[in-house]
Amino acid sequence: MVSNSFLWKRTLSRRATMAAAFFLAGAISLPPRMAAQAPPLRVAVPKAAKAPAPPKLVVLLVVDQMRGDYVDKFLGQWTGGLKRLVEEGAWFRDAAYPYAATETCVGHATISTGAFPATHGMVANAWWDRKDQKMVTCTADPDPKVKNVGYAGATPQGADTAWRMAVPSFAEELKFQTSGATRVVTFSLKARVAITMAGHKADAATWFDGGAWVTSSVYGTQPFIEEQAKSHPPKADFGKTWALSLPGKAYWYDEKALGAVPPAGWELTFPHPLRGKSGAGEPDPDFYTQWASSPYADTALTELAEKAIDSLNLGKAAGTDFLAIGYSSVDYVGHAFGPRSHEIQDILVRLDRDLGNLFAHLDSKVGRGNYVVALSADHGVVPTPEDMQTTGADAGLLRLPELRERMEKALAAFKYPKPAVASVSGSDIYFAPGVYDKLQHDHAAMQAVLNAALDQPGVAAVYRAEELQNRPATQSPTLRAFAYSYFAGRSGDLFILPKPYWFLDSTPVGKQRSYGTGHGVPYNYDQHVPVLLMGFGILPGQYFHPVTPADIAPTFAALCGITLSSRDGHILSEALKKPGAERTAPQAANARGTANP
Ligand SMILES: [Zn+2]
Repeated sequence: MVSNSFLWKRTLSRRATMAAAFFLAGAISLPPRMAAQAPPLRVAVPKAAKAPAPPKLVVLLVVDQMRGDYVDKFLGQWTGGLKRLVEEGAWFRDAAYPYAATETCVGHATISTGAFPATHGMVANAWWDRKDQKMVTCTADPDPKVKNVGYAGATPQGADTAWRMAVPSFAEELKFQTSGATRVVTFSLKARVAITMAGHKADAATWFDGGAWVTSSVYGTQPFIEEQAKSHPPKADFGKTWALSLPGKAYWYDEKALGAVPPAGWELTFPHPLRGKSGAGEPDPDFYTQWASSPYADTALTELAEKAIDSLNLGKAAGTDFLAIGYSSVDYVGHAFGPRSHEIQDILVRLDRDLGNLFAHLDSKVGRGNYVVALSADHGVVPTPEDMQTTGADAGLLRLPELRERMEKALAAFKYPKPAVASVSGSDIYFAPGVYDKLQHDHAAMQAVLNAALDQPGVAAVYRAEELQNRPATQSPTLRAFAYSYFAGRSGDLFILPKPYWFLDSTPVGKQRSYGTGHGVPYNYDQHVPVLLMGFGILPGQYFHPVTPADIAPTFAALCGITLSSRDGHILSEALKKPGAERTAPQAANARGTANP
């Protein structure tokens, strides 16, 4: 047996010899006069190391409200792009958000930046602005110089940008840090998706508003989108019908989803006609809601992305390009029909086909293996309470307007002016100016208002803002989840944790709720989402250790050789091919995961 010290000495002496030889070779240089007289000497010039080549194109796909278990359950119904991601890619089967605010703007900002909401500041789709004393959306920009701009003659309202996102996106960093001319292009039905995926500036960030494709003046317009908006407008799908694509026996669960609230003009059963209010002869707002809740919207986004690849030659220029698509329709369908519905299964079958087409397009235009893809979701969804109750489980609606009324009453007893509660937005409760400061020194009133909230059916716990500051170390997974979501100044004063399977319902007292179900809480049905990576630099396989969607951006950054400023995620190194180890690496990966199905 060779001792360690011997090995060390041998290595040292070999290194010393090599260094000496190199020093001698490099040090011999003669003045020009002598060099002219003597024969030329060969001087060893060290060769520059070769930097690993980055991918030609980074493709980010985010399916709004796609639960992680949809992949496990419905993989057998897929033949296209979703199947290919699982079979050719790295499938992280235990991916979940660690934070409480499982909403769209939050999830997309997390995937885009690699940071949690406590860092990137996009704490909800909308929150109570304490300064202006009103609700603001995560992308609403008050700068009078900024305006939304419509394609094909549309004149959208408002102004939306990423100015509230406190951290640059991966795409922005990529464009900024590399010498190549990175192009950044994003598409979605939702502004809060196209914008957060792109970042503060981009070559194109496009979303859907009032029947038209729109963008903001900070991004500018692209001729190819104008052309597509004119030649294939969403209204061209008027009169089409969404019918089941597989034989009836392929679908799980009841034909009529229990607790579903379908969009106006649709029944609880297939087929779903895209004709707006029944009898209307032309596209009306109800038609556009139906369209957004149908597979035709996913197809329109896929076609826009393919146009972008062709028109801008994405993946063909000197730099690494970035293309992101936020598929929104699964979210609209899930809100209406719930996760246990034929509608959810069918829209995934159709999305699988769209993604198959997209990958085939990328293979032919960019080249198989030249691009890397990640697919994830911004959040999951809870079953409708009516459906969950059939199991005998404790499930229900946590009625937020009633909770607010209880809290007002409790504070009125302590002579607080009414309204003492300024806003109840999801789980965040905001008090009127000065009220929370006063409550912190008024123990009896604080206790009374906390007890009032705890008395509302469905409430499991109430957290106070000061418990969440500075991401405290804690054994409580739910307290930690709220801390990861907490951004001082934007988040609420108090936070409601519902019981599992209790849905936060904002429907005003006495009104019918306008959706089947929703999401937004720190339970696994809202937190668990797919994370799939495929293509350039990715080791295929199934991986079972816990990861978060915040790991996607750091992994992209590692492949592209750039640095993210404030990431909370980690590089998914086990799914990355190691340079020069392509042949042996798949076995190494299988030590952790399993072989492909
Ligand atoms: Zn949603």
